[in-house]
Amino acid sequence: MPDVASLDEYSVIHGILRQPSLVDYPGQLGVLMFTSGCNFRCGFCHNVDLLDNFDARTYTYGMLHEKLAKYHEEWVQAVTVTGGEPTLHAKLPETIRFLKDEGFLVKLDTNGCNPLMIKELLNIVDYFAVDLKCALAHYPEFVKYSQIDHLRESFRIIIENAKDYEFRTTILENFHTDEEILAAAQDIKGAKRWLLQPFIPHENLPDEALRTLPRTKPSVLEHLAEVARTVIPGTLAR
Ligand code: SF4
Repeated sequence: MPDVASLDEYSVIHGILRQPSLVDYPGQLGVLMFTSGCNFRCGFCHNVDLLDNFDARTYTYGMLHEKLAKYHEEWVQAVTVTGGEPTLHAKLPETIRFLKDEGFLVKLDTNGCNPLMIKELLNIVDYFAVDLKCALAHYPEFVKYSQIDHLRESFRIIIENAKDYEFRTTILENFHTDEEILAAAQDIKGAKRWLLQPFIPHENLPDEALRTLPRTKPSVLEHLAEVARTVIPGTLAR
């Protein structure tokens, strides 16, 4: 049994996507676990119900232990912790240690706002997936977040020290122009992997204007990946 103060204590996990899949952790069968609350406001966010709910307490360590035992039986090897923004929770390192002690690989999805915690997690997180929403200079307007120095520091820490990682960008046609992608590429210069993924419309998106915007065309993703590869050779369209 992993070493936590009490199995009755709450972890930072708010929700679990029931069905394991092969899409969330590279090359492994994994489950997706959500934390609540986010300090960004992306108009294309698919987890809008989680954004303002910072104190949701749902899974105790005891409840997680039972769930994870079942996942072991189903050959699940990995857990992806996503949000909201997981690094807003002071107890995230404790929860990730618990998941590791239970025998799982752990991937952390983060928007990069908490470089201190990312540094603390370097030795226990197996894979970081870091959002790069756009060029850093455009974050205040695009996702309503202004502490660019925090993001710059997180990106540096990840590029120089993480065991494994990817940066990823959701591409909105017309916003992510060639110029935007080239500027964003400069903000993660030296990164080994950058994935460009399609925007997918949904009726609950925070920005109403985006709800009916078509899904990003594969040809646009491929073109922008080619542009990005002039700075980050490991860029792929997903
Ligand atoms: S950072 Fe992620 S969870 Fe937060 S608003 Fe943006 S897309 Fe949503």
